[in-house]
Amino acid sequence: MTFSLEGKTFVIMGVANKRSIAWGVARSLHKAGAKLIFTYGKDRTEKSIIELSSTLDGEPSIILQCDVTKDEAIEECFATIKEKVGIIHGVAHSVAFANKEELDGEFVNTSREGFLLAHNISSFSLTAVAKAAKELMPEGGSIVTMTYLGGERVMPNYNVMGVAKASLEANVRYLSSDLGKDNIRVNAISAGPIRTLSAKGVRDFNSILKKIEEEAPLRRTTTPEEVGDTALFLLSDMSRGITGENIHVDSGYHIMG
Ligand code: NDP
Repeated sequence: MTFSLEGKTFVIMGVANKRSIAWGVARSLHKAGAKLIFTYGKDRTEKSIIELSSTLDGEPSIILQCDVTKDEAIEECFATIKEKVGIIHGVAHSVAFANKEELDGEFVNTSREGFLLAHNISSFSLTAVAKAAKELMPEGGSIVTMTYLGGERVMPNYNVMGVAKASLEANVRYLSSDLGKDNIRVNAISAGPIRTLSAKGVRDFNSILKKIEEEAPLRRTTTPEEVGDTALFLLSDMSRGITGENIHVDSGYHIMG
């Protein structure tokens, strides 16, 4: 067993720009020799992925649109992947969304619409993607998603996204229970706060980063590379005995009281 992903194909969902956690995952997998397929949500993201993926050496990557709010879009996307590559060995799901106005103030004011939107994109999408991806993993595989400590405990301003992450973490457990018999593993990485486009939506993000630097055991914030290398481990056979797990890549912050 090695970290080499030579000859293996992975779908990476959620690269928006060079700061995206998914781009950290892409770089780690690429270094390990994996073939990558990128999916994006918004039309305008395509250009950014074309530019970024062209910086990776080797064959150009397949890039497809996959708006996870639409069942047909997910089905079509994975049908196209099947047509182009046959089988895949795993998926990195790095997708979430909540309305900015609901990542501020009190959680109790969350609207029904905002609640459902956050859960739809940030949790249900994993269920729908796992169902579609399963058909492309007849030899087994590994699925990794991104969560945050706000799903386990109350974090300032994280609000509805915290509730959606709690749902996502339970989603990981139920999916891993279902898909284990097909040798498909499902795990989460609970990443420490990283300055990305999505993080801009969380009010007072700077003070969250500062707190990590002061209080986390490693006294530094998390990098996309650290998350990428853990995703590499979870997507490789090195982690073959691990499923339904949530690994914290957060400089150890989650152990602090
Ligand atoms: P990014 O903004 O870079 O990535 C979020 C991605 O979600 C974008 O690529 C976006 O694509 C995609 N997305 C949103 N809505 C949809 C949709 N309807 N269909 C398809 N894709 C969609 O931020 P991050 O890298 O920070 O976020 C990645 C994951 O990591 C998220 O799950 C986030 O909650 C999690 N996380 C982030 C932390 C942080 O501090 N940054 C900490 C812990 C976890 P597009 O713009 O094309 O729609």
